[in-house]
Amino acid sequence: MELAVWTYEGPPHVGAMRIATAMEGVHYVLHAPQGDTYADLLFTMIERRSKRPPVTYTSFQARDLGGDTAELFMEAARDAYARFKPQAMLVGASCTAELIQDDPGGLAKTLGLPVPVVALELPSYQKKENWGAAETFYRLVRACAGPRVPRAAGAAPRANILGPTALGFRHRDDVTEVTRLLARLGIDVNVVAPMGATPADLTRLGEADVNVVLYPETAGTAAAFLQRQHGIPATKTVPIGVGATREFITEVAALVGIDATAVLAEAASRLPWYSRSVDSTYLTGKRVFIFGDATHAIAAARTAAEELSFVVVGLGTYSREYAREVREAAKAHGIEALITDDYLKVEEAIAALRPELVLGTQMERHIAKRLGVPCAVISAPVHVQDFPARYSPQMGFEGANVIFDTWVHPLMMGLEEHLLGMFREDFEFADGAAPSHLGHAPAREAPPEPVAAGPATWAAEAESELKKIPFFVRGKARRNTESFARERGLSTITIETLYDAKAHFSR
Ligand code: SF4
Repeated sequence: MELAVWTYEGPPHVGAMRIATAMEGVHYVLHAPQGDTYADLLFTMIERRSKRPPVTYTSFQARDLGGDTAELFMEAARDAYARFKPQAMLVGASCTAELIQDDPGGLAKTLGLPVPVVALELPSYQKKENWGAAETFYRLVRACAGPRVPRAAGAAPRANILGPTALGFRHRDDVTEVTRLLARLGIDVNVVAPMGATPADLTRLGEADVNVVLYPETAGTAAAFLQRQHGIPATKTVPIGVGATREFITEVAALVGIDATAVLAEAASRLPWYSRSVDSTYLTGKRVFIFGDATHAIAAARTAAEELSFVVVGLGTYSREYAREVREAAKAHGIEALITDDYLKVEEAIAALRPELVLGTQMERHIAKRLGVPCAVISAPVHVQDFPARYSPQMGFEGANVIFDTWVHPLMMGLEEHLLGMFREDFEFADGAAPSHLGHAPAREAPPEPVAAGPATWAAEAESELKKIPFFVRGKARRNTESFARERGLSTITIETLYDAKAHFSR
């Protein structure tokens, strides 16, 4: 038993649903108790899909347990085939159904359906959602993929794009961005899978020269199988961040035997210039804590350190299958990785490290909010706002632009940070107030007007010195100087008082 309030991943059958829902022509018959249909909402509400996931639930109830639940499953599978006529069926059990051991795979076989039926063995009590997705995709690829077809002489190289699923963080736009990158290199896309692919498309996987693995968590197992069984090489670099995108271009070009020099020369993202421009100087050395799935956490750590000059003070993942990779990445930043799916441990680490920025999942957003630390989301699990209407990839050069804007946005802007250092007592822009560009500073009561005698008078030369201060900060400078004078019982503000006040507030 483990006390859990938040979980980073769902049970593995949700991973299987993500594959079925991403694809066309696949239907999933899930032996599950009444109520498990809640998972539909992940797709229809969070991802805002316009149709129900292709899943039939047996939805057994307590009274069914006294009868024949196996027959219930057979009936559901028979009906689902007759109704949806899929090209391939997935059958499996959710956590509760796993306990009653009806063997959906064996039962489905006895139905003699005229399409491939892939039986899923998903150990719900040991494994989680991403593992379930990877296993399901691998099983489907194994059942469908045809032999390798060598490229015809003179034909353009072809790549499969593997890994994008339903409910994937920015998968929709990452596919578009990577497809564009490949097109610039003169590489045709053979099959994108599972997103948008049919089982018939999976039979053509062998026609590609290379597998582009976008998300190792969901496509790593299938890509390793295709490499082993069909000799199709797979990419290792995930193109998140400018450096990684350039490395990805070089890697994929080498794997298909083409020259990437021209594409690398024209490769453009605004991130490098934006982060070199003087306005970003104040970002240097910002202490950042990173947590998420392994792919996004590793990529974020590299981008943060190499492209935004942040200092990575914490790095961790809930993807236990990729703990080794995250540990290696953490070592490169001189820190120890945090491998856990317990959000309380993550909260503890953030509280102890006191970073200036947290890059994480929806959970870290809540934690950071509680601790008053700025935060941006870099990885699933995410809420509905991270399935945006606008184009928002994380990958490729446009992805790097999106990353720059997203990560810098929650931080206090440079000028405000500087002014806060100088004028800490300001009632509106005070220390601890939220960045004003976010427009939701907590309502603070203006400090009561002091009962002491009226404001000190400004000596003429102090008044003209005050006018040298830019207009947008002059009001604050005046207020701060007056309160400084009041506290000290000064009746006249001289140039000296003005500078003493400045020195006082910037301490
Ligand atoms: S079967 Fe699993 S997913 Fe369904 S309600 Fe029970 S624990 Fe949750």
